[in-house]
Amino acid sequence: MLAPMKYAAPATVEEARALLAADGGARVFAGATDLIPQIRAGRPEPSMMIDLKRIDRLSGIARAGSTWTIGAATPTADIVAHAGFAAEFPGLAEASGLIGSDQIQNRCTWGGNLVNASPAADTPPALIVNDAKAVIASAGGERTVAAAEVATGPGATCLGADEIIVEFTLASPPPRTADAYLRLIPRTEMDIAVVGAAARVTLAPDGAVTAAAVALGAVAPTVVRVPDAEAALIGGPLTDDALEAVAQAASAACRPIDDKRGTVAYRRRVAGVLARRAVAIAADRAAADQRGASS
Ligand SMILES: Cc1cc2nc3c(=O)[nH]c(=O)nc-3n(C[C@H](O)[C@H](O)[C@H](O)COP(=O)(O)OP(=O)(O)OC[C@H]3O[C@@H](n4cnc5c(N)ncnc54)[C@H](O)[C@@H]3O)c2cc1C
Repeated sequence: MLAPMKYAAPATVEEARALLAADGGARVFAGATDLIPQIRAGRPEPSMMIDLKRIDRLSGIARAGSTWTIGAATPTADIVAHAGFAAEFPGLAEASGLIGSDQIQNRCTWGGNLVNASPAADTPPALIVNDAKAVIASAGGERTVAAAEVATGPGATCLGADEIIVEFTLASPPPRTADAYLRLIPRTEMDIAVVGAAARVTLAPDGAVTAAAVALGAVAPTVVRVPDAEAALIGGPLTDDALEAVAQAASAACRPIDDKRGTVAYRRRVAGVLARRAVAIAADRAAADQRGASS
């Protein structure tokens, strides 16, 4: 007979890490909106489920100076509802608010979305265009890794067996900067992305693009940055030609698979369309950004 699964609710990061380190079969969870369905679908039961939601440091949204810190186990519903955060990162708030349903968003977290490492996850592209950093508790202390470096393949990450993401940090965007996230799903909700596209744009007062980031989800084993799209934008105004170059670069950057939700050709085309639209939305928002308007 299988030994019953144990449950632990540590109060500190150190306690959680010690539990993980002492039991190779233990798993941490935050919302458990990935972990429980996976166990029900037949993946091996952990010997111990370690609940991260009771650790104060892992929950909450704070801004100190120009740095935002978001606990890795903060429900995405709280992120969507945080007016100050959503004003500075509308695209990241959008991505957070697309996960599942209200019930799922009351549980699910950025930490789980990133560490589950689904190629189709919604928040990683939006975290990446905003250059989010993950603070990871390790045996030797803490290390900071770009969100872009966490997932290394489907279901695989750079985390060691006893490491935990504690929080995410994001620099407050400069003036006239904004992001956007769009995805295509076959249904209107409760489905996973066929393609996801995140963009962030910074505009000079004359309308020229001074910085740009474009990232695609669900079109490769991990999120794809599109440097050719970024290069096509930077240094000039947001013309139709520039947007067309973004679409072509995004389609070319994809390495999608054929599956029941879309063919390779379809995903490439949709990636171009969504990247172009996400850039246009981010640029409209950046143009309307009143922060630093007098500078
Ligand atoms: C009905 C339904 C709809 C969904 N819709 C979407 C969707 O639209 N878009 C989407 O992207 N996802 C969707 N998901 C998947 C899931 O909700 C998300 O991936 C969610 O963000 C996972 O967060 P969680 O806190 O629940 O993760 P958990 O299930 O708690 O954990 C997931 C994985 O991450 C690990 N982990 C969690 N937190 C940490 C941490 N701080 N440090 C280290 N490891 C950690 C766990 O060990 C586990 O391996 C859906 C799921 C369901 C059930």
